[in-house]
Amino acid sequence: MTAALDHATLREHKAFGASPLRGLLLTGLDDPAAAVWAPPTGPAAHRDLCTDCGVSRTADARRCARACQFIQPDYPAMEARVHGRVRDPTRPDELFFGPFRRMVRARLSPARPDAQWTGVATRIAERLLETGAVDAVLTMAPDPQDRWRPVPVLVTRAEGMARVRGMRMGYAPLLALLEPARAAGHRRLAVIGIPCQVYALRALESTLGFERLYVIGTPCSDNTTTESFHTFLGLLSDRPETITYLEFRADYHVELRFADGGRREIPFLKLPISDLPPDFFPLTCRTCVDYTNVLADITVGYMGGEGEQWLLVRNARGEELLDLLGDEVKTSAPGDAGKRAGAVKGFLINTARAAGGLPLRRMPGFMRGIMGWAMPRVGPRGLEFARARVEMKAVETVLHLRRAEPRRMKTMIPDHVWKLVAPYGLTPGPGEQGNTAGKTPGIP
Ligand SMILES: Cc1cc2nc3c(=O)[nH]c(=O)nc-3n(C[C@H](O)[C@H](O)[C@H](O)COP(=O)(O)OP(=O)(O)OC[C@H]3O[C@@H](n4cnc5c(N)ncnc54)[C@H](O)[C@@H]3O)c2cc1C
Ligand code: SF4
Ligand code: SF4
Repeated sequence: MTAALDHATLREHKAFGASPLRGLLLTGLDDPAAAVWAPPTGPAAHRDLCTDCGVSRTADARRCARACQFIQPDYPAMEARVHGRVRDPTRPDELFFGPFRRMVRARLSPARPDAQWTGVATRIAERLLETGAVDAVLTMAPDPQDRWRPVPVLVTRAEGMARVRGMRMGYAPLLALLEPARAAGHRRLAVIGIPCQVYALRALESTLGFERLYVIGTPCSDNTTTESFHTFLGLLSDRPETITYLEFRADYHVELRFADGGRREIPFLKLPISDLPPDFFPLTCRTCVDYTNVLADITVGYMGGEGEQWLLVRNARGEELLDLLGDEVKTSAPGDAGKRAGAVKGFLINTARAAGGLPLRRMPGFMRGIMGWAMPRVGPRGLEFARARVEMKAVETVLHLRRAEPRRMKTMIPDHVWKLVAPYGLTPGPGEQGNTAGKTPGIP
């Protein structure tokens, strides 16, 4: 049991009506040597659109109304609070990626074993622990029984970060561990999270009582339940249980790695996407409005990195985080090539068919081969690829909400999303626009 599990924590867990020991035994994750602690969480309250970020499992579940990305997000106000300013209309990329000081391609050298890319996200957090800048890091570990299932943990020693590297598919209540973290006496905390978790974290930040909070965000798109993800793996391989790694790369290929050290690359166009059930991607993940984690201090992704990582340093704290890596991180200017408009238009047509209940068009087999070869060479690359993906996500938001939850459009879609889809002929219909919170001062 970790040092973090002190008497105060035990008392707090009793207040939640759950035994901490039950959590420890069930998860098998707790590792005193590495100081990885997976306290149990309370039950989730039912919510319509919800990725179980953890707020509904805290002592005051009503805070969802104010914290949730899916209710009435207010990006301009939050960006101003977190970064000291809203998106700058004279820097067009901020419309796509949110406020940032600088963007870089990056790789950690040496790359860390088991990391999703080279391990920038976990290494930053490891450095925060090594230097004593934080008492704990809140992030996701793999479930010992299922490597693809995320389990929220608190890590209190740098060695523990090796246990959480890599990507899991699915949702887990990260923010439910904020209360145990405070109860354990942690005052300075780092959180690694995906955008829907970071939105809620920022919305509640001022009430949480931490002295210092560092937020390392990753982009996120096309998440699904861990169960559904296993179905997908089953379509990719006869032995899905041997797949240890999967990534949708920026060169239009999915990379798979296997337990025996084997690797396979599948062009996006050859993926069995049309064999998946229509509800494979939950409505939350088809309509979420923040791909690039605009409220993080630093976003650590790969989309604009052309085979390397892509970092967006958003504020002074983000600079502090990147500085922690010193010479371990090699950076360069991101590339920018190709034209995205055709790819986004094609995506819109296919999404409109799917959102209208029609099957996705299947490309003839021989064409898929040709396109799979051509896309990495002539398709949008570097920052243009990242812009294309952000626009595609905005298109999905509008089309899927229009079909499934039209009444939510008014409050859920921020103004900047409408600006992203306007070049493709998608404009708000009567009653669809009204997130006045989404009006960015300075952007007409
Ligand atoms: C569902 C999902 C979709 C993503 N989609 C994109 C994308 O489209 N474009 C893009 O640029 N990046 C995407 N990312 C981020 C990307 O996969 C890498 O995590 C990121 O580039 C950091 O790489 P790294 O080597 O620095 O990470 P590592 O150092 O390996 O650290 C990864 C961190 O992510 C945390 N994590 C893993 N799984 C989850 C999860 N399910 N929920 C919350 N946290 C988790 C881990 O706990 C760890 O702290 C996605 C991540 C997730 C979880
Ligand atoms: S704030 Fe979190 S728990 Fe609450 S409804 Fe939103 S995603 Fe679900
Ligand atoms: S796609 Fe959006 S809603 Fe879904 S898990 Fe990722 S950040 Fe959350």
